[in-house]
Order: sequence, then structure tokens, then C-alpha cells
Amino acid sequence: MEEKKEGLDSGSGTNGAEGGERKLDFVRQIVADDIKTDKWQGKVHTRFPPEPNGYLHIGHAKSINLNYGIARDFGGKFNLRFDDTNPEKEEQEYVDSIIEDVRWLGADWEDRLLYGSDYFQQMHDWAVELIKKGKAYVCELDAEQTRAYRGTLTQPGKDSPYRNRSVEENLDLFERMRKGEFPDGAKTLRAKIDMAHPNLNLRDPIMYRIVHEHHHRQGDKWCIYPMYDWAHGFEDSIEGITHSICTLEFENHRPLYDWFIDAVNDGRTDDGSGPWGKKIHHPQQIEFARLNMTYTVMSKRKLLRLVKEGYVSGWDDPRMPTISGMRRRGYSPEAVRNFCKLIGVNKFNSTVDFALLEHCLREDLNKTSARVMAVLRPLKVVIDNYPEGQSEALDAINNPEDASAGTRKVSFSRELYIEREDFMEEPPKKFFRLAPGREVRLRYAYFITCTDVVKDADGNVVELHCTYDPATRGGDAPDGRKVKATLHWVSAPHALKAQVKLYENLFTKENPDDAEEGRDFTANLNPNSLETLTECYVEPSLARAHALDRFQFERLGYFCVDPDSTPESLVFNRTVGLRDSWARIQKKG
Ligand code: ATP
Ligand code: MG
Repeated sequence: MEEKKEGLDSGSGTNGAEGGERKLDFVRQIVADDIKTDKWQGKVHTRFPPEPNGYLHIGHAKSINLNYGIARDFGGKFNLRFDDTNPEKEEQEYVDSIIEDVRWLGADWEDRLLYGSDYFQQMHDWAVELIKKGKAYVCELDAEQTRAYRGTLTQPGKDSPYRNRSVEENLDLFERMRKGEFPDGAKTLRAKIDMAHPNLNLRDPIMYRIVHEHHHRQGDKWCIYPMYDWAHGFEDSIEGITHSICTLEFENHRPLYDWFIDAVNDGRTDDGSGPWGKKIHHPQQIEFARLNMTYTVMSKRKLLRLVKEGYVSGWDDPRMPTISGMRRRGYSPEAVRNFCKLIGVNKFNSTVDFALLEHCLREDLNKTSARVMAVLRPLKVVIDNYPEGQSEALDAINNPEDASAGTRKVSFSRELYIEREDFMEEPPKKFFRLAPGREVRLRYAYFITCTDVVKDADGNVVELHCTYDPATRGGDAPDGRKVKATLHWVSAPHALKAQVKLYENLFTKENPDDAEEGRDFTANLNPNSLETLTECYVEPSLARAHALDRFQFERLGYFCVDPDSTPESLVFNRTVGLRDSWARIQKKG
């Protein structure tokens, strides 16, 4: 398959990303053309059809954004529908998380939260209809035999010995399958198409299998369950979906979906006068390339393994590419939506640089996040000429990108914390921050000069002594003298202690699946993907922050309040650092 790195200039036009006259993406172009030709009487109806067998990830966000965006832009409708046809892997927990995630992304299904399993009876009745039309039969080959009979890409398959059963016998057996007379796997219902068909999907595919399993919604009502291929097209048909948008790997399933609907429509007419009644709706399937990204995995099976095998703390671990993980990490829905717009929609598979997603994230957070000061690796500073027991409140700007965000007061006192890495006892040439004898600015406060360094028995620097210049209040020297660095800081008696979690990519390789012989993607997990700092200090205004509130910690990056954080025990996640590696790549290129 063709692989291409995709970026800002990824050809395919998106719908009005920058407000300018951009070309419609190819799916929107199809929709626009259909409206023009009145193909669906001007209607547009899309859906997002997740299987509730895992949490949603950034790839799903692309699909949600596309489907919902089209409905919104063309004045159509959008359904959220669970493709809950496989009781073995599906759970209510997944249903709940998907609802929350789709809502968070801003897609609105109005009153159309739907479940494929609600159509089981209808699908069953159509299966019976196909049996009656001689287009389906009950087969007793086991899984292995079925595979052997199927043939290969180069060899035709063989007809099942059960293929030519009478309609009566098939009806009887299928009914007994439904009633629960047979154990799992004993029989299947198959479409009678063509065992020599060049498209393997059409070699008498299985429509129903026996699974004695409790369904999260249907309970024990059914013990035969429709296969995905049998169910999927009908779910769209029943809901009147006009544009059934899916990913490329379903392109060669499309002829089968078409065959199923045509088989039901055989003997039906538009006005319902035929022997089988009125024709059912035949949606149009359109395939687009799925999203792949560097440094992460997107398959639900692999994500489930990361959760089940304890490599991460759960589906919402901030390192996961899941929507819930990204939310916990501090992503905004706007950042995700902007990313989706930027990458566009097209027909060839590609891998998007993770740095591009983080670029979109920074762009949004830069505009929206309040700035605060926090010190992650504290080094104590004592201002010797500042009166003991005194403190004062200084003005600090909340967001230089947004004047309406206003200012706040930050407390200054004799004892402060600065960042350990902002001091060097023997600074190399290019280090302009604090050093013995050197003057720097404390943001929003004063110029300070380091006068003494206190060390422990092992020679580690544990405390600095400084003097401040009262004339520089607010951060400027009236005599015009300059300093080469501005440091962030917090007042030691005022600051709140906090835990801060720093994250790196979950995998060390761009393509995590590229593992040594005999190993799998877990071999490429990044052992340094999580670093927990327990001895951090944040300014006291953060005591009032709520779960998931986002901030820029000045000079350190963007952070958000972890949902497990409490006023007594603050926990922050670093969303992303300040340095935009994507912008750097773009400049170099
Ligand atoms: P699986 O079917 O293996 O469980 P899936 O990721 O395809 O995994 P679904 O729940 O079937 O999961 O996906 C719901 C919808 O999201 C489908 O329409 C699918 O095409 C789309 N989708 C899934 N993964 C991606 C992706 N990486 N990029 C874009 N769309 C995706
Ligand atoms: Mg799928």
C-alpha cells in the first residue's frame, strides 16, 4: 500500500479550514454533487457507527468529524449508532465512554442515539426472506472446514455439501438455530452467492452464527448473531443513511453489501406492489483513508492489550491515543477538530506525524490557557535584603494572547522557589540564567542577584542567597540596565505543593509495529513515557482550579488538572511542552 507522510500541505482540500476559498474534500464533493442532482431528494444523512468493543481513539475522531461535519455543513442529519452485533466483545462501559467522547468532540446526534441490535428482528426476517428466495442456506461445516472450502486468492473455493438443501429444510434449521437447539458453532447461515467469486468476500459469506452469549442490550433474547457484513449495510438502510462513509479496507466489502440489499430488493418494487413489498433504501458507500499516526498504535486490539496487560493505567491514561486519554491529558476538542480539518480527507493511506497533532494543540492552548507560575524541580532562594515576615502582591498578566483575561496578583516574599535548572554554579558560555554574581529578572517581580550558594555534605546545591533591587518592582530597571534572562518562580510560604506528571511518546519508534523478530509492538514501549514529580510548587490561585482546567505553566508548557486531583493533593498532567517541533520541521523543510 502506498505510504506517504502527510502534512499541512496535504493536497486534499478541506471545508473552509481557514475561511478561504478552499476546495471541498472528495467526500463533500460527492455530497454536494448529489444535492445538485437531487439524488436523495436533497437529503444528507450520515452516521458514526462504532462497535462498542473499546474506547474511541484519534482515528475515530477523524471519522466523527467528517460524518458530523458533513451533516452540519449540508443541513443534514447525523446519527450515533452502536454497531453492537457481537456480544462476546461488547460492554456497556464502552457504550458509555463512546457517548461521552462523541459529545465531547462536539458532534450532535440530537435524538438519534441508535443501536444496531434494535434491528435484530428485522435482519432476522430478511434472512428468512433470503432463505425463501433460495439465496441463503444453513451450513454445518465447522470453522476450519469453512476456511478450507473457501479457497484462496488464486484458487476458487468449493461448494459446501449443505449448499443445496431445500428451502423447507433451511427454514426449519434456521428456526431451530434461533430457538437455541444447537451449540455454538454447530451451524451457520450462509449467503448462496458464488464459491468461485474473485472477491473472497462473496464466496458464500456467513450471515449468522450461533453464540449463546448475553447481549449488553438484548439480554438472552438471541443466540444467533448477525455477522458484521450482513448487519452493517442494513443498519444504514433502516436509518435512511444517504452517504455511508467508511474506511478503505471496506472497499472490497461494498459489493457484498450491495448484493445483500439487492437480494432483499429482488421481488420488491418502489410502490410495494411486488410479491415482497416495497424496496428498501440502498445507501451509497464512500471509502476514505483511515488515520495512522507515528509513535502510537490505533488498533483497538492493541490498545486493549496495553490496558489489560497494565502497560498503561487504563483507557484514559494520558499517554493513550484515545479520546478519553487525550481529554485527561488536557487536549481541547477544538485542537482535535482543527487537527482533523488540517489533515483533510483522502483516498490513500498515510501516516501523520504526531508532532502535527501537538502543533494544533499548542495553537489552541496558546490562545485559551491562563498563564500561571509553577516550579517543577524547586531550588530555594532566600532574598537576604527583603524584610523577614513581609510579603506583597504583584500584578501578573493572565494571558498575553487575550487581553480580556485580565491580571491577577501573585505573592512575593523573602523565600522563593526557582527551577533547579535555571541555576548553574559554573555556567557555560551560552547559559544566561542565574549564576553566582549574576543578575536576572524574576517575572512580574524584581531583578535579583545571586550572592551565595549553600551546599549539602555531598556538594549538591540546596539553597541560593540573593539580593533584590527594590527599584525594579514589576520587572524593569529605571536606569535602563538589562538582564539576559527572566525566570519564573513561586513564593515559598504561599505556594501549594503539587504532583506533576510529565509524558513522552508511548513508543520509541515511529512505527511501533516494527519490532525485532519474535517480539511485538510492546517491545517498542518507551520506558520513559511517564515521569512523576512529587515535589512541585504552584502558585496559590490554582487551589480553585477544577478537574481538566488547562493552564500554561510559564516557560514549562501546558498543563491540566488531573481528574483525581483534590485541593489537598493537587495533580497536574503536562499536556504538551512549549517547543513546537512541527513548526521547526516546517521551517527547516
Ligand atoms: P475494529 O472494527 O477493529 O474493532 P475499528 O477501529 O474499525 O476497529 P469501529 O468501532 O468499527 O472500530 O469504528 C467505527 C468507525 O470509525 C468506522 O466507521 C471506522 O471506519 C472508523 N475508524 C476506525 N478507525 C479509524 C481510523 N484510524 N481513521 C479513521 N476512521 C476510523
Ligand atoms: Mg470496524
